[in-house]
Amino acid sequence: MMRLRPWPAGPVGIPGAMMRTMQTELDPGQGWPPSPAPGPRRVAVVTGAARGIGLAIAGQFLADGWSVVMLDRDQAMLAESSRELSLAGESRVLAVEADVSDPRQVSAAARQVGQAFGGVDALVNNAGVAVFAPIAETSWAAWREVMATNLDGPFLCTQALLPLLRLRAGAAVVNIASISGLRASTLRVAYGTSKAALIHLTRQQAVELGDIGIRVNAVAPGPVETAMAQAVHTPAIRADYRATIPLGRYGSLQEIAAVVHFLCTPAAGYINGQVLAVDGGFDAAGVGLPTLRETRAREPRR
Ligand code: NAD
Repeated sequence: MMRLRPWPAGPVGIPGAMMRTMQTELDPGQGWPPSPAPGPRRVAVVTGAARGIGLAIAGQFLADGWSVVMLDRDQAMLAESSRELSLAGESRVLAVEADVSDPRQVSAAARQVGQAFGGVDALVNNAGVAVFAPIAETSWAAWREVMATNLDGPFLCTQALLPLLRLRAGAAVVNIASISGLRASTLRVAYGTSKAALIHLTRQQAVELGDIGIRVNAVAPGPVETAMAQAVHTPAIRADYRATIPLGRYGSLQEIAAVVHFLCTPAAGYINGQVLAVDGGFDAAGVGLPTLRETRAREPRR
């Protein structure tokens, strides 16, 4: 259905009436700013939600009025975090203990979510693990552990929750990749390769699932101060990041969570199959930044 609606002042040179006509032709009826379809409260499933980036994402959805399934394999931390979020979100939080790399646990979790909510509007595949080591010292066990959670997990969770995602118009999946999946940094043979594969999985999913109205995108964070970063970011790695990132700092939990939430809303309704680096410009940077900084230290007006 086409409908006219109020439209703010058009760009310079385009009369308001023409702008309204263009809008009618170009837009098959979604209002602007877009608002969620009326119906049941929206439901987000966030994996790895017991701490760090996943917990911040869960909080962001909750603050916007969604119900949130917090899925994690760490039972103790999950219980504590979900209790804290429940205090803010009344009965809109469901904690589900599951290991995303285990097909049986993922199937059982999907059944639990279906029984509780009957449908899913957003799935955020955030659970991840990191092992940083040189290629020669990366064991087969470490390689498998990283692939099992970072790659098998999003495959299994998306597949298991697909019947519930299909039930909701405008459903979206966001896979949390990493800047290490876009740029090959040292020590990340397993971690970086798992995230690069996750980026391709995102595109595979976007093509097939886009055809049934489910958008799939990836967010590739730069460094964020979490327990994971504290475990694998040595002082040398921290210095390397600051030297290479134009904004010269780590990202915050909120800066990642806000983008993930945006990708799951109608405002992002035509974004599908994209990788959004939230990285302070790291992905854009080539050589020259340290030299520029040295020059500016000597000549601040440069
Ligand atoms: P974190 O270690 O602080 O939290 C990860 C959470 O995932 C934990 O609660 C953990 O219990 C859970 N988890 C791990 N494996 C699981 C599994 N198999 N099943 C279920 N739950 C599991 O990590 P974080 O820094 O918050 O990272 C979250 C995501 O962001 C990861 O995918 C990570 O690769 C990605 N990322 C992090 C950074 C960073 O600098 N922190 C940068 C880029 C990308």
